[in-house]
Amino acid sequence: MVATIAEKRLLIDGDWVDTGDWIDVRSPYSGDVVGRVARAGAGETRKATDAAERAMREPLPAHKRAEILVRVAGALGRRHDEVARLISDEAGKPLKAARVEAARAMSTYTFAAVEARKLAGEMVPMDAAQAGEGKLGFTLRRPIGVVGAISPFNFPLNLVAHKLAPALAAGCAVVLKPASATPLSALLLAELEVEAGLPPGWLNVVVGSASEIGDVLVEDERVKAITFTGSGPVGWELRRRAAKKRVNLELGNSTPVIVAGDADVPAAAAKVAQNAFSFAGQSCISVQRVYIDREVYDEFVQELVPKVEALKLGDPADEETDVGPVIDEDAQRRILEWIEATSGEVLTGGGLDGDLIRPTVIANPAPEDKVSCEEVFGPVCTVTPVDSLDEAIRLSNATRYGLQAGIFTATLDNALRAAQELEFGGVTVNEAPTFRTDQMPYGGVKDSGNTREGPRYAVRELTEETVVVVELP
Ligand code: NAP
Repeated sequence: MVATIAEKRLLIDGDWVDTGDWIDVRSPYSGDVVGRVARAGAGETRKATDAAERAMREPLPAHKRAEILVRVAGALGRRHDEVARLISDEAGKPLKAARVEAARAMSTYTFAAVEARKLAGEMVPMDAAQAGEGKLGFTLRRPIGVVGAISPFNFPLNLVAHKLAPALAAGCAVVLKPASATPLSALLLAELEVEAGLPPGWLNVVVGSASEIGDVLVEDERVKAITFTGSGPVGWELRRRAAKKRVNLELGNSTPVIVAGDADVPAAAAKVAQNAFSFAGQSCISVQRVYIDREVYDEFVQELVPKVEALKLGDPADEETDVGPVIDEDAQRRILEWIEATSGEVLTGGGLDGDLIRPTVIANPAPEDKVSCEEVFGPVCTVTPVDSLDEAIRLSNATRYGLQAGIFTATLDNALRAAQELEFGGVTVNEAPTFRTDQMPYGGVKDSGNTREGPRYAVRELTEETVVVVELP
């Protein structure tokens, strides 16, 4: 049962705008309409950019930006239940995962407020070179300019928070385009920012045709940075087209985990069962490929499969549900085709339970199977025995992706080798690589992206540095 019916207008220059054309937002679980959103096109996106550019002519001091960010964090806390239910309704995310996301968004705003107050340049030791003797040097950090932010469906609140909060901390006005499937949480967040005292123009939200809105953001020279979270082809194409802008990309992964022969096998299996299937695997760092030392392979599989089979499938609005729907029928069809096409052995799952994909474990798929080398973005993980840590590291790295990876081991040597040799932006030890807290530097290498989020790091990406050199008397 859908608990919330929301109707939202666009936010442009401080006004809530009704364009007379509405997009229905449907529950991926029931198909029911859970909200309607006014549709924007190129015209609204241009007006939004005008407003953002005007807003930045009167900079907001850091203490005011920090106060607004703190107030939003407070409002997210007070309205936690409403926020979590809205995420669950529009994304089909099980309520327990939606509650975690809602709480994390508070944390994102809280850390961004800290960064707003700390944002500063640094001293340059000028007399470290002979030519600099007698001079004072320091840097100023200035907001980069208007930011175009584009966000995906799978964390419709907290990944929007990771765009909006650091941009405000950095002193930048934003034109946000949230995912068309899940715009309601983004518009609720916009409401909270306005209620927290954000002046007109500092945040503008447009929902509608991705290419129409994207084209304006790419082509308008006043948009100085595009911050994008989503799939690789879309992200890299934006970067190619917007050659003169800073284009920060947070993209996908095919997340590997290594279980070494000395690992705590039941603990590793429990973490994999929990982190390969949460939100039906629709996290960019959902565990997908598990490489297990052959000596403990049977034990690992015997521990894992019953835990996976015990996960509760069902209505995301039910507090007990572990695994709900994937975002739409196209995604469902694609995932089932990839399972069907694998040469590996399906140990559990592999088909539908009602309308939901059963959590699926596949043993020994070929490296070229899509479930091995592409990002599944569904409730599927693979298990493969290996003969050495070398082989596990080689297979983990045999991907074009590089976001996060993990290892379970009792040995510091193994852990540190993995940390050094896994070609990923983050490596977890005795924790699933699905782990993220919001102050961490988070982002990928290779096809997974070119930036780091987490307010401290995102603020650096959204500011320019000016060096000031003063001749001393
Ligand atoms: P997506 O299809 O790439 O969409 C992401 C956003 O881009 C949406 O707002 C989408 O709008 C927009 N978009 C699509 N085409 C565009 C264009 N031509 N110009 C401008 N914008 C365009 O990705 P998704 O399916 O929502 O999200 C799943 C992907 O995101 C996965 O690959 C996942 O790994 C990745 N992801 C990465 C991270 C990370 O932090 N690294 C976090 C979460 C997700 P519409 O919705 O209107 O199409």
